[in-house]
Amino acid sequence: MASGICIYAESYKGKLEPVASELVSAAKELQKTTGEKVQAIVFAEKPEGVVTELDRLGVEEIYAVNAGRDCSQQDDAVSQTIAEMLGRIEPWCVLIPATPEGRSIFSRVAMKLGCGMTADCTEVLAGRKEDGSYYMKQNKPSYGENVFVTIVTRDGFYPQMMTVRPGVYTAQEETAEGQAKIRYFDDMKVGASKIEVIEEAEAEAETGSILSAEVVVVGGRGVLEDDNFALLEKFAEKVGGAIGGTRPMVDSEMIPFNHQIGQTGLTIRPKICISFGVSGAIQHTEGIKDTKLFVAVNTDEDAAIYGVADYGMTADLKEVITEYLML
Ligand SMILES: Cc1cc2nc3c(=O)[nH]c(=O)nc-3n(C[C@H](O)[C@H](O)[C@H](O)COP(=O)(O)OP(=O)(O)OC[C@H]3O[C@@H](n4cnc5c(N)ncnc54)[C@H](O)[C@@H]3O)c2cc1C
Repeated sequence: MASGICIYAESYKGKLEPVASELVSAAKELQKTTGEKVQAIVFAEKPEGVVTELDRLGVEEIYAVNAGRDCSQQDDAVSQTIAEMLGRIEPWCVLIPATPEGRSIFSRVAMKLGCGMTADCTEVLAGRKEDGSYYMKQNKPSYGENVFVTIVTRDGFYPQMMTVRPGVYTAQEETAEGQAKIRYFDDMKVGASKIEVIEEAEAEAETGSILSAEVVVVGGRGVLEDDNFALLEKFAEKVGGAIGGTRPMVDSEMIPFNHQIGQTGLTIRPKICISFGVSGAIQHTEGIKDTKLFVAVNTDEDAAIYGVADYGMTADLKEVITEYLML
């Protein structure tokens, strides 16, 4: 019988990706309801360091395959091995990072296992049925990010698999000493791949990842007037912050979608957030409410953003930024 809350421990060059530790947190939350073991699968060229990191995060069972070679981009071969691993472990559910790697590998795994997959969840919860068994509630934005839906996988299809958006769960803290049951599937061989990597190129530098930035400067529709965005950019540069924004900023193509903050964008937890011209709709503030210090500037003294901010300033953003830039 399927049991266990399993995460896919995505790694890069022998180190666990931060999103994997967020998935451990999500799995531990589910465990509070179901009581099932938290498991992880590792597939890497040199998995030992990743296994140790997972052990310190309090994962109870770790299953690893030493790929024996760099399998980057070889998602056809990797997905076959992972499908076989899951066939042996038989977990109840699998939480996968909604990253390009996670999406690409596990869409193939789902097809091989015939179990389906829910993409891009922003929350995963365990529900209890009348007969005492559990089911998974997979919450995610849908229909062009305009509504929230809860998806429940049909009974009898295991594992229940879902990708989870990076940033929506806080990272699991390390414990002093891990006690995981660790098992290497040494008999598993990774097959040949039909994918050939011709060239690797570094991604173009961004304005700064808002997920890791300590200071984030957020622009809302108020920034769309005149040359306000240019002012916002200068402000962000001066304070050393990354630029994020609300949905109207993305809709008007002022910032890319991966800088949108909110229920259908990213969840961020910077040390300082300064927002300009943002009204404070809940769909936006849900993605930013855990900021340690939050300052908001808005011309409307009744703006809802003041209910979330630690400090509010009722003023025209143009005047505030211009004055600051002259200091
Ligand atoms: C299902 C769903 C999901 C959504 N997901 C998201 C999401 O992930 N992220 C998101 O951001 N939104 C999301 N939205 C949209 C959200 O509901 C709001 O419409 C949006 O956040 C409003 O953005 P805003 O504050 O920039 O614009 P507005 O609400 O138009 O507010 C603009 C503010 O700027 C102020 N202002 C104007 N000029 C100035 C000035 N010169 N100086 C200072 N202040 C000024 C105004 O007083 C006003 O308060 C979603 C909506 C739905 C229905």
